[in-house]
Amino acid sequence: MPKLPHPSARPTLRTVPSLYYEQAAFFVLSNSPPVYPMPPSTNLPESALPEASTSTQTSPASRITDQDRYSRQILFPGIGLSGQQLLASSHVAIIGCGATGAAAASLLARAGVGTLTLIDRDFVEPSNLQRQILFDESDALQSLPKAEAARRKIALFNSSIAVIPHIADLVPANIHQLLAPAHLVLDATDNFETRYLLNDYAVQQSKPWIYAAAIGAYAATMNILPQPDPANSLQVAYSPTACLACIFPKPPSGPVETCDTAGILSTAVNLAASLQVTEALKLLTGQSHLMRRTLLSFDLWNPEGQATLAHSEINTASPHPDCTVCGQRLFTHLAGEGRPHITLCGRNSVQIHEHHRPVDFAAMRARLAPHGVVRFNDLLLRFERPPHTLTLFSDGRAIIQGTTDVTLARSLYARFIGS
Ligand SMILES: [Zn+2]
Repeated sequence: MPKLPHPSARPTLRTVPSLYYEQAAFFVLSNSPPVYPMPPSTNLPESALPEASTSTQTSPASRITDQDRYSRQILFPGIGLSGQQLLASSHVAIIGCGATGAAAASLLARAGVGTLTLIDRDFVEPSNLQRQILFDESDALQSLPKAEAARRKIALFNSSIAVIPHIADLVPANIHQLLAPAHLVLDATDNFETRYLLNDYAVQQSKPWIYAAAIGAYAATMNILPQPDPANSLQVAYSPTACLACIFPKPPSGPVETCDTAGILSTAVNLAASLQVTEALKLLTGQSHLMRRTLLSFDLWNPEGQATLAHSEINTASPHPDCTVCGQRLFTHLAGEGRPHITLCGRNSVQIHEHHRPVDFAAMRARLAPHGVVRFNDLLLRFERPPHTLTLFSDGRAIIQGTTDVTLARSLYARFIGS
């Protein structure tokens, strides 16, 4: 990875050795644009973008044409009209609608990706507003589930795309159903358990996914392109990269820093999401040959050496031959082995997801009212009994705030919701 020049330094061709940066530096110096490769032709009519552009519905989208909306992106030669058409017919699933997921969803929706599946198990809180760019104060005050809040917000700025929210925890039992329609999956989770589950699924199903993580001022991302399925003629051919387990054979053991313990800069999250979505746009426009084949990370706060941006780049160009997942095809996380039914979700709270049964919120409120303050809407029920707050979702899953004691959380659930 070439080192970028310090902003105060004048860029010269000598200090920026890669072709791309030479072109970028040339652009800065001469004001002539660099040359980008073009996406493949889609063989679609050039007169209009598919569907959304010719819609006659009365929504605001009918007054905004796709030619207007995407004009600057179509002008970018790397996308062009054919790339825009490919984006309109693409489906991306985003796992997690926290800071990374909200940023990625916003970028993909604004870029015109035709269908987004958003999967998130959580609800909006005031501490999210510093960095989770799709949410506002009203969402936090209502404790709106993030997937639904994101869908509503996206509809305000791009009602011509489809957004499918799932208020759910991604688990082995639902991963096939939730991710099957997507061409690409973006990781925006906050835990390694889900990432290893996704890695198993993606390798087994030959589905590309992009890892992204941010903590403190640190941002990291990696493209995972599993071996394409030879039976799927629609799949783009590419040479596979390393998978997550090739690089990190096991999830980290012991306590892991989270944004609840180490804090987080909004800018680090947005950098991770921005890099991730740029790679996604390459894949979705049929330009996987342009995708980075490294685990790329940045420390945005502490400069390195001669005041350069601290970063590292680990080669992930080839699968590791001894990898248990992509080499031996042992999908232990997908099989659900050792998966706990109760998990800590950071921020002094515990999630209980062992009970899968529909909940009647009105009946539950009548039952809980003598014991504390109860509020509910169509999507969740909130039961406050200081020092604990129990948030119950319609499938029986619950997040209990005010403790990290799993036994206590389980006993509160059993006492008030049922065992
Ligand atoms: Zn592997």
